[in-house]
Amino acid sequence: MLNLVLDPLIQKGRRKKLVEELTASKMFGSRVLRAIGAVPRHLFIEKGLEEFAYKNIPIEIAGKQTISQPYTVAMETELLNVKSGEKILEIGTGCGYQTAILFYMGAVVYTIERQKELYLQAKENLLKIDYTKPVLFWGDGFKGLPQFAPFDGIIVTCGAPEIPNDLLLQLKIGGKIVIPVGDKEQEMLLIKRKNKSEFEKQSYGAASFVPMLHGVK
Ligand code: SAH
Repeated sequence: MLNLVLDPLIQKGRRKKLVEELTASKMFGSRVLRAIGAVPRHLFIEKGLEEFAYKNIPIEIAGKQTISQPYTVAMETELLNVKSGEKILEIGTGCGYQTAILFYMGAVVYTIERQKELYLQAKENLLKIDYTKPVLFWGDGFKGLPQFAPFDGIIVTCGAPEIPNDLLLQLKIGGKIVIPVGDKEQEMLLIKRKNKSEFEKQSYGAASFVPMLHGVK
């Protein structure tokens, strides 16, 4: 029997609708919209929930975490303004969907997840679509990846209690970090590194993410 939920044509149609919805918001540039239109989000969602993959909602993944809603993924990606060839660090791999979007846009992606279960899951998900280039780490994102720094951009996909200093210092001069900061509710911040010690901060309104937690699990 044809499984309608898994049928790629149906998913393609749903994905197209999502892109139309995001386009109508006039918030996003064509590069971000193309990436959302290309990456098969349903392959990052647990079995049984695929039919919700292209709704503009967050969805539960393993380890009591969520895959951010497409609008949020698009928003952070837009703020990061990633260019082809840029070296990007992602904190909070989750299921790997945001990783895939960054890779599709030509970024050289490094990503860290604190939960081993999700780290393994993301590896598997990215393999399904032959995205084998992003480098995945199981570790504590508060520390970043000093061995691979400096980065053109850092994207934090969990709510940080404060701006982690280690991450700021792993930015190139001229580089930027997109990070939701705050406890229960967060404020979406874009921080640019102007020189060795100066940073410029801009706020992009309220956001709601799962918390950024210390240590690994
Ligand atoms: N980018 C993901 C979003 C997943 S939700 C996606 O596209 O699906 C945020 C993720 O951040 C969760 O998986 C959570 O386990 C992880 N996380 C929380 N604190 C972290 C930390 N200190 N280091 C790395 N990952 C962290």
